[in-house]
Amino acid sequence: VRGISQRVLARDMAWTLADGDCKALTREWNAWETAYTAARTTVERAAALTEPAAVCAGCPVTFECAELAWLSGYTGIAGGQGYRNGQPDDLRQRRPMRRRRDTA
Ligand code: SF4
Repeated sequence: VRGISQRVLARDMAWTLADGDCKALTREWNAWETAYTAARTTVERAAALTEPAAVCAGCPVTFECAELAWLSGYTGIAGGQGYRNGQPDDLRQRRPMRRRRDTA
C-alpha cells in the first residue's frame, strides 16, 4: 500500500477507532504511553503494557487499530502492544547506541 491508498486506508481505519474501548480513557492512555516510551528495560515495558493490553483484549476494533498503527508509523500502544515507528515493539532489550569511530 503506497501514497494516497495508504492515507485513505489510514483515514478510514481512524474512523473505526471511535468504537474502541479506550475512547473514554484519554488521560489514562496518555499516562500509559508515556510510561511505555520512557521504559528502559523489557521488564519495565512489559509492566507498562499490562493495563492498556487488558483494555485492548476486549476491544472490538483491535485488528483495525493494529493496522492503523502500522500504516501511520505510530509510536505508542495500539492493539494491545507497543509500536515504534509503526513496527511492533517486540520487547527485546534495546541495544545501546554504538559510538561512531573518530575518523580524524
Ligand atoms: S485496540 Fe486498544 S488502543 Fe486500539 S482502539 Fe481498541 S482499546 Fe484502543
